[in-house]
Amino acid sequence: MAYDLRELLKIISRNSGIRDFLPGFIKDPLYVWIKKHSLKNVFQESRACHCNELFVKSNGEVYPCCRVWNRKDMKIGFVSDKNILDKVIAFVPPKCLCNKYSIRAKNSNDTLKYNLLNIELSLECQAVCAMCCVDAPMWKGKYELYDDVIRLINKMGKIDKIVSQGGEILIQKKSLDFLSSIKQSLPRDTHFSVISNANVDLTRIDEIERLFDSIDISIVGFQPETYSKVMGLKLDRTIQFVEKLIKNGKISVNTRFILTPLTFHEQDMFLKWALSLAPKTIILYDTNFRLYINKNTRYKFWDKIIERTILNVKKELLNCDISKLRRNNTVIEIYDLALYGINTEFIHSNSFEGIIKEFDA
Ligand code: SF4
Ligand code: SF4
Repeated sequence: MAYDLRELLKIISRNSGIRDFLPGFIKDPLYVWIKKHSLKNVFQESRACHCNELFVKSNGEVYPCCRVWNRKDMKIGFVSDKNILDKVIAFVPPKCLCNKYSIRAKNSNDTLKYNLLNIELSLECQAVCAMCCVDAPMWKGKYELYDDVIRLINKMGKIDKIVSQGGEILIQKKSLDFLSSIKQSLPRDTHFSVISNANVDLTRIDEIERLFDSIDISIVGFQPETYSKVMGLKLDRTIQFVEKLIKNGKISVNTRFILTPLTFHEQDMFLKWALSLAPKTIILYDTNFRLYINKNTRYKFWDKIIERTILNVKKELLNCDISKLRRNNTVIEIYDLALYGINTEFIHSNSFEGIIKEFDA
């Protein structure tokens, strides 16, 4: 029987056993060759992304997802456009693909079925992160699009999950009131999630647990001086808050350690702490820190720092209580397993099956 190569690769990529091998394979010269030679969509599902999710930026621009927030050619319209949903339906996208999907226009078989609405509300923030991609520390504006977002939500039909982000939503009373009011008007099974730095007072816990089903917390540095230098905040406040949230166990807590040149060597300290708490997710997330550093110094400074840190990361993994991670269904996602020397053999021989994964953006 003759197989079309593209079909064959699709069948292979759907096979769960082979999926374990794919993260390694995508760095393989064969995969690079396939991508270069116009079989680019082999591993991505073709879909009308804008019929499944939407991202509304703080300035009101609407995109098919948050990954393309800085691509002007992917802008569908403005949340304040009276006909915004017609624009979504009629959107003819330019070429775009990520590790899961390749976008195409809506066809007659597609229905609007939203599993995600990601809303960036006010950019007001109490942090001054040195790598803030939305320039929140410089933001002096006023967010006035709450009513427009409500109008859009009312037109979208059932939405499985609403993610809110800023700025820092947890310090924005108006945004919290807005989320609380839409929560009351939507079906009870709508999942509410917030992306946060979690640097807020413990007295806020009840309110946050009532409003959200999950929280994604980014932590940049794990020594007080580093955290304060990069984020301008006090680390112990975040730690207390996160520990209390996890201890209460009322909402899912996803922790994300952001790797920058100043924080890379502190990831094992974060990991030790996070592993002891066993939240829903522990992510080691790269901000492309290698762009900030010069790896070609005479003494191979960064190679040594990376090597030593990775050794410590593996030590923490090998010393952790795996049964606690299993009980809590904790998943550890690492941005580049190959860099850490974590392969199928490491995972199997140390009983990390289903716990350690490559980060899936
Ligand atoms: S292809 Fe991926 S990155 Fe592009 S719009 Fe769809 S989900 Fe977003
Ligand atoms: S917490 Fe987020 S929004 Fe606030 S300054 Fe840092 S990166 Fe920017």
